[in-house]
Amino acid sequence: MSSIVFTKIDGGKIKISKKALTSMKKFIQDNDCKKEAGGVLLGRYILNSLDIIIDEITIPMWGDRRKWFGFFRSRRPHQKVIDRLWKESEGTINYLGEWHTHPENTPIPSDIDIRSWKHKLNHDVFDGDSLWFVIIGIKSLRIWELSRNNLSYQLIGESYYSEVENV
Ligand SMILES: [Zn+2]
Repeated sequence: MSSIVFTKIDGGKIKISKKALTSMKKFIQDNDCKKEAGGVLLGRYILNSLDIIIDEITIPMWGDRRKWFGFFRSRRPHQKVIDRLWKESEGTINYLGEWHTHPENTPIPSDIDIRSWKHKLNHDVFDGDSLWFVIIGIKSLRIWELSRNNLSYQLIGESYYSEVENV
């Protein structure tokens, strides 16, 4: 599976690396045994442009609560990874948002998702004006942007796994 690119609200591009996509796709809830999974999106703001790249993600860790319908990320272990990558990259790898899975073909955020996204926008520490949220459905993934300037959430893209694989 190659990387995919979407257009952000400000017109810049957001690219999800092949590595990040491959890791998230391992958690697609395509059978009843798989619980919801999730983590954080980590990546870079590209200098002198509006573009960003999601290079890495964290995957479920000890302390996360995973249910068939519901994922609650524990704060500390994921924060440790964020801090380590930030240090190792000399401050270029940043926290960019969150991802999680849904057991439905086309993912739709729940009221709880939207509330938690808004909470993160208002309370998490990050550079820039927006955070991005990916939901991994069974047939497609979708990505939403929440901006400090515009508190509503906006779907900025959808990608069907089958299409990506045929590229
Ligand atoms: Zn959800």
